[in-house]
Amino acid sequence: MSNFLVSARKYRPQTFERVLGQDAITSTLKTSIRNNQLAQSFLFCGPRGVGKTSLARILAKTINCDNLSANQDSCDKCVSCTSFNENNSFNIHELDAASNNSVDDIRKLVDQVRFAPQVGEYNIYIIDEVHMLSAQAFNAFLKTLEEPPKHAKFILATTEKHKIIPTILSRCQIFDFKKSSIDDIIKNLKYVASKESIDFEDSVLHLIAEKSDGALRDSLSLFDRLVTSSDGKLIYTEVIKHLNILDYDYYFKVTASLFENNISQLFLIFNEILNNGFDGQHFINGLASHLRNLLLCQDSITAEILEKSDDLKSRYLDQTNKTSSSYLVKALKLCNECDIQYNLSNNKRLLVEICLMQISSIGYSAELKKKSKNFVVSKANDSKAPIISEAIISKVQNTKTVKDERFTATKVNKTFNDDVIIEKKNVNVEITNSIDLENKINDEVELKEKVQDLAEIKNSQDFIATKESKTISISNLLFQKKEKIKEDDIISNLNLKEFTQSDLTFHWKEMINILKKNGKSNLAITLGIYDPVLLDDFLIKVPLSNSSQIELVYHEKQMILKILRERLGNDKLDLNTVVVESEKRDVAYTNKDKFNKMLEKNPELQVLREQLGLDPEY
Ligand SMILES: [Zn+2]
Repeated sequence: MSNFLVSARKYRPQTFERVLGQDAITSTLKTSIRNNQLAQSFLFCGPRGVGKTSLARILAKTINCDNLSANQDSCDKCVSCTSFNENNSFNIHELDAASNNSVDDIRKLVDQVRFAPQVGEYNIYIIDEVHMLSAQAFNAFLKTLEEPPKHAKFILATTEKHKIIPTILSRCQIFDFKKSSIDDIIKNLKYVASKESIDFEDSVLHLIAEKSDGALRDSLSLFDRLVTSSDGKLIYTEVIKHLNILDYDYYFKVTASLFENNISQLFLIFNEILNNGFDGQHFINGLASHLRNLLLCQDSITAEILEKSDDLKSRYLDQTNKTSSSYLVKALKLCNECDIQYNLSNNKRLLVEICLMQISSIGYSAELKKKSKNFVVSKANDSKAPIISEAIISKVQNTKTVKDERFTATKVNKTFNDDVIIEKKNVNVEITNSIDLENKINDEVELKEKVQDLAEIKNSQDFIATKESKTISISNLLFQKKEKIKEDDIISNLNLKEFTQSDLTFHWKEMINILKKNGKSNLAITLGIYDPVLLDDFLIKVPLSNSSQIELVYHEKQMILKILRERLGNDKLDLNTVVVESEKRDVAYTNKDKFNKMLEKNPELQVLREQLGLDPEY
């Protein structure tokens, strides 16, 4: 174990060629060496682990080599080179500014600079994380940096260029290092794996490269970690488990469910992810990356940016063909909002679930929008009940034809260019007779309610009006038809015996006698005052003296009609009451009339009424 050397150190590049992905920098440096125009101070900027310190060492080794090749490569044989390779060169001085950032640390360094090297031509001073130096330390260093001795070269390295003061920047030749590409990292990993005789699946190296985020050093650390936990072979499924990585398979599954608006499936997958120990934010960010990859694949030009294995790339292309870039942009926006709100949320799980539901609904409404174009009615793109609305629209538009939604099969195919072809197979059931139509009444009523529900959601008044009126018209038609049938049936069974005025007068008097015998004397008297008059179409005019009589007759009308209809054998017989003012007889019928008549004769009755508090109405 004591001989174990981490790969990052063991396979630290020793030549310019082995520095991956920084070709512009290495070629510039080599040219400078060849032309003997090397600057005295360099500033290497860039992300961590991309080879800044390695390149500084290679530069130091190269300029001290006694036997440089024509290609500006060190010989690896001379004293200088071998001491470099064994990490015991006296020509290289490293200072980690992160931990040695005081004025004193810099002063010690400055003191050293004055001495010329024992072996080789140059002393190289590498100050890592130079942005960490304190302000005083910077100032103490400035003078030396401005006028360094001939034998001294400074290489300052930093991950945060913006923190370097301008006076330093202006004294250095600046090199900006790039992030290592996935391909470069994989290339490097393959090299190391072959040297170490490690078997691997390509997908594992891809995974490591992705996880290390452009840092070669991190990729090697991760590689070491996986190698020590494996039996000499890196297998994807085991690595996934070991690293507890949320596999991209999950995202493909989740995205497929999003496209299908399969909420229950989404909840199940998300639950599984949580049960595997991942947190919601990790998941939602992973989903966002996945959606971004899909977005990149929407265009063949941007698809080139995607640093994935060919297998994976084809899966992305396959999935992205099932959606549109506008969908993906909306989905990404929702993921981003969820990410922002995540830490503020008290119910983080619900937040993610809501996000998933929102994303599914955009897909659904977009799909519906396209479908509804097919139906001309563009307003019906409600996401909550797309199938219902579709059915309603078709029903509304075909008032003579009732389509059963069960017979409607809709198949949506999306082409590569996101053009949507909608094939609809509608089996239209022509309603040819009223019986079938009546069977559909319940269906129609249900649909009408659905239209109203939808209308409320859509809040689209014009649209509602047309839809409702059309739907109602079907029902009205049916209702009218039913009513007519009923009426005709009644007419065919009616007694319609003709009768004359004298028949009426006779039976009228007979009726009055019956009423009297049955204790309806008031009614009998009222009806006995005038003779009824027979009008056209079996209508009888009943003259009466006042409103109280009309009221009385009105209450007993059904009984009167029943007696007369039976006696005269005519079911259509009806009566109208009419007040005959001119022929009004001076007869008191009500208590009030009687009281008023008495009052005319004896005005003192009024006094008596008031004293006793009597109401003449009763
Ligand atoms: Zn050499």
